[in-house]
Amino acid sequence: CKRACIRQNDVPDYGYRTDILEVKLDHGPEFGSDTTFMPILCNQCNNPPCVRVCPTTATWKDERTGIIVMKNEACIGCKTCMTACPYNARYFHEGKRAVDKCDFCWETRLSKGKAFPACVEACPADVRVFGDLADTESRVFSLLHTPGKLVWVLRPETKAIPNVFYVNH
Ligand code: SF4
Repeated sequence: CKRACIRQNDVPDYGYRTDILEVKLDHGPEFGSDTTFMPILCNQCNNPPCVRVCPTTATWKDERTGIIVMKNEACIGCKTCMTACPYNARYFHEGKRAVDKCDFCWETRLSKGKAFPACVEACPADVRVFGDLADTESRVFSLLHTPGKLVWVLRPETKAIPNVFYVNH
């Protein structure tokens, strides 16, 4: 998924739009420990701190898609949005001379008619599920509304109201 994202979105080696965290889980002396992998990316927040702080409105939440988008020409490189993001989801792209981050491949794929972001299409384990949460027939909707499923978001205390959800198996 990382490689697909890099190829698709011209991500340099000093930045990332999505990354995979390795999390060690300790189950106590009887059960030992194991490692789990957690994808991270821009959470396309409903109350995005990055948008609030941008002095040039170079970034905003697109009303139709809900995706937080960037207008590179309007970015002055102040990096305030990078500091404001509680998910460390932004980096400064030297080539674009603008801050860059995941836009669910809106610019490079979805706006051109593709159904899925590159990472979702590339994942061999069906870990990343992408869709329209407002569509009650969608797979994401049913995944998040299955009784007994544990659903969580990262750093809920920030009140950014993220739209990236994690579920148990
Ligand atoms: Fe903005 Fe960070 Fe939320 Fe993405 S995760 S919308 S960059 S605050």
